[in-house]
Amino acid sequence: FASGSLASRIEDAEPVAVVSADAGSRGGKVVPYKPLLDEAIALSAHKPAAVLMVNRGLAPMDWQAGRDHDWASLREQHLNASVPCEWVESTHPSYTLYTSGTTGKPKGVQRDTGGYTVALAASMKHIFDAQAGQTYFATSDIGWVVGHSYIIYGPLIAGMTTIMYEGLPTRPDAGVWWSIVEKYKVTHMFSAPTAVRVLKKQDPSWLKKYDVSSLKALWLAGEPLDEPTAQWISDALAVPIIDNYWQTETGWPILTLANGVEQQTTRFGSPGKAMYGYAVKIVDESTGEELTGPNQKGVVGIEGPLPPGCMQTVWRDDARFVNTYWKSIPGRLLYSTFDWGIRDADGYHFILGRTDDVINVAGHRLGTREIEESIASHPNIAEVAVVGVADQLKGQVAMAFAVAKDASGLDSDAARLKLEGEVMKQVDHQLGAVARPSRVYFVNVLPKTRSGKLLRRALQAVAERRDPGDLTTMDDPAALQQVKDLVG
Ligand code: AMP
Repeated sequence: FASGSLASRIEDAEPVAVVSADAGSRGGKVVPYKPLLDEAIALSAHKPAAVLMVNRGLAPMDWQAGRDHDWASLREQHLNASVPCEWVESTHPSYTLYTSGTTGKPKGVQRDTGGYTVALAASMKHIFDAQAGQTYFATSDIGWVVGHSYIIYGPLIAGMTTIMYEGLPTRPDAGVWWSIVEKYKVTHMFSAPTAVRVLKKQDPSWLKKYDVSSLKALWLAGEPLDEPTAQWISDALAVPIIDNYWQTETGWPILTLANGVEQQTTRFGSPGKAMYGYAVKIVDESTGEELTGPNQKGVVGIEGPLPPGCMQTVWRDDARFVNTYWKSIPGRLLYSTFDWGIRDADGYHFILGRTDDVINVAGHRLGTREIEESIASHPNIAEVAVVGVADQLKGQVAMAFAVAKDASGLDSDAARLKLEGEVMKQVDHQLGAVARPSRVYFVNVLPKTRSGKLLRRALQAVAERRDPGDLTTMDDPAALQQVKDLVG
């Protein structure tokens, strides 16, 4: 997280303590965390009483006396302490995980303790067909929901060994994951389509260098798994490739194949069928009517009560939980996933993108509003629209179209590139590099309806070089023409 994003989370969560490390490493580069954390706490109205730092010896740290504590020396002091088990209600929150929505303010997804444990234990058995003593390797980051559920809690609840790996799939070379599989006899592996697409661009011989015969299956989630990618990794590994669809909010798969119960055939392009516990409905966006026929496109909803493990509420904001998730589909109280989907005659589902302004960049969920707010805080930006544009490697990338407050200096490529660079730097600083738009184009006016509503879908279509569809409500046709000329 960049300091701005972290500050808004600290302010919302109001933690009494923050645990962090001096730095992480990414692609061979050290990323110092302490300066980001110090800046975030300075920006936040809430100040945590204590900060516990793990010093990995990667980057120097400034210490704030009284607030900052060194993990190693505290550990030394308390090494022989006996800490009794803390018994909590099953509904006691186990954690909150922030996720993006349609407003700039991130939502704290609150999870319980008992239900989550039950759900994960059931998923280890029914989805992963896992046994105690086997080895699970999820390549996610522990800071994301997959990391919580399937690096930490799920495998440990099931009595498995879990592998935590910090680094890219291509360093020191594209064989690093498979060398881990060979070395630790990994039985279950969990990753994301983007990572597979990255590997697909490397020399395929890396996949043949190691003995991966311990592997039973590879599960992929977090973004749509396209058929060519699924086929490629399936041919290369010769194990079942199992797509699964879920969200930070649910904590475990909504759609997948429960091969631990009965073996089912994978259909590439589909994350499978509704998992036990989820009453998945495809409904009409404007009437809320259930679409029961095969291949009818609608919003993917879940009938309450949600199964164990799913979010309890939005942290300290029950009203936001109800209004956001349960009231977006007219005429009925139904949980909305905010994804479009269809179900075929055999019960296999296909996910067709988001119904809201959330985009998915390399499996990372980002709200375009958050990026817009960050860009709009640049002194020379009057107005901006950010859309997700299809990308071969990352699934989607963010693309920004901005109107400058003072466009008089923007008549040269050099001037435009300079402002574009400044805007990108600002997003990096406030939200983090993952949110940085691939391009910031400067336009005279954004495409809007006569009533002033931004024509987001038309903008996205043009940016993807598709037909923008019906434009009868558009105010100024020149606006889209300029976008067309810019994206080429
Ligand atoms: P997150 O909460 O970051 O895990 O993002 C959840 C969103 O990612 C979902 O609402 C979908 O839009 C997308 N997503 C997750 N898994 C899949 C999948 N297997 N296929 C298609 N989209 C997915």
